[in-house]
Amino acid sequence: MSPVARRPRFVAGNWKMHKTAAEGGALARELVAHLGARPPCAVALCPPFTALEAVRQALDGSPIGLGAQNLHPEPRGAFTGEISGAMLAAAGCRYVIVGHSERRHGMGEDDALVARKLRAARRDGLTPIVCVGETLSERDQGLTADVLVRQIRSAYDGLAEAEARETVIAYEPVWAIGTGRVASPEQACEAHRIIRATLDRVVGAGAGANVCVQYGGSVNAENAPRLFAEPELDGALVGGASLEAASFFRIVAAAAAVV
Ligand code: PEP
Repeated sequence: MSPVARRPRFVAGNWKMHKTAAEGGALARELVAHLGARPPCAVALCPPFTALEAVRQALDGSPIGLGAQNLHPEPRGAFTGEISGAMLAAAGCRYVIVGHSERRHGMGEDDALVARKLRAARRDGLTPIVCVGETLSERDQGLTADVLVRQIRSAYDGLAEAEARETVIAYEPVWAIGTGRVASPEQACEAHRIIRATLDRVVGAGAGANVCVQYGGSVNAENAPRLFAEPELDGALVGGASLEAASFFRIVAAAAAVV
């Protein structure tokens, strides 16, 4: 029997509000040195806006992609303090995180705004990393599937299969982000299957199998091999453990190691 084709793996580091430009440039240079000219899988770094240029310079000539952590849905205008997708693309970004729970729950971003941001990212040639996930109270009430279906349906409704394929989804249970309480591989797989089945229904049959679905939430060098043993997980969105070159490198290596 021929082996089942595996989706390519993709690991992205979300630096959140950490690293000045100088610190970010230094970390990116260290990672380039660790990962070499040919990283074992796709990798991206998402520093704060102010470190984008320093990190872009450090990544110059490397296949490691540059990403931002947020964008405004409008292309331009009177939106003080905001950044457009076109600005991010011009700054060298290939990716942008959309709908991170720290923005949904901390900054009041709702499903409708996340959907607009996803479309804005695509309009401006960026690959959105669309974050979805339930809170602890939603999980405890048995609402995990409802939340995932609602978030995916709202974000992807109206997208063609080819467009959906050019996005990345990060399943990030809110209770696992920055808490040290990682989802079990079984919990992550179950959520990923719900996400793929919802894509099949909303975007079209087969869509779910073609979209990269990362897991995010307290991934570190120790738990990464156990998580990545699951072919359902196409990579990870990594917060805390991406702030140090050695741990991020070990996560990337773990993602690439499992066939
Ligand atoms: C994140 O910020 O997307 C994240 C998953 O954070 P952490 O890895 O620190 O839980």
